[in-house]
Amino acid sequence: MSKNIDFLSSEDEHDIINAIRTAEKQTSGEIRVHIENTLNTDISKRVMDVFHELKMDATQLQNGVLIYVAIASKAFAIYGDKGINDVVPHDFWDSTKDIMQQHFKTGHLKQGLIDGILKAGEQLQVHFPWQHDNIDELPNEISKG
Ligand code: CA
Repeated sequence: MSKNIDFLSSEDEHDIINAIRTAEKQTSGEIRVHIENTLNTDISKRVMDVFHELKMDATQLQNGVLIYVAIASKAFAIYGDKGINDVVPHDFWDSTKDIMQQHFKTGHLKQGLIDGILKAGEQLQVHFPWQHDNIDELPNEISKG
């Protein structure tokens, strides 16, 4: 896998990072996006590996959310840490996934990510509202595999 795969223009990336900032203004949850070309293993295993590599399992409230996309494999997943899974119904992310799926199906990667990020922020806000002393625990940047 190459670090140089250009899925998104730098302008696209800028817009996606802005969406993360906007979403994180509503919630103490931490949202990150990881994009790669090919999924070579079971998606749940891969997502958990990336989650760990990005140190997303180290947030104070265990409320990190990873949006994972494997472009060529046409696979994506949303994974929330234990703090989230303990308090939300199992279909919590379904509406977010549906929105993203609609865009991905028509080849709109950037818009799918942006809408997914903003929707995830709205969902997270209910259980993890933004607090005055919130620290931005994880970098607002796109990770690429
Ligand atoms: Ca952040």
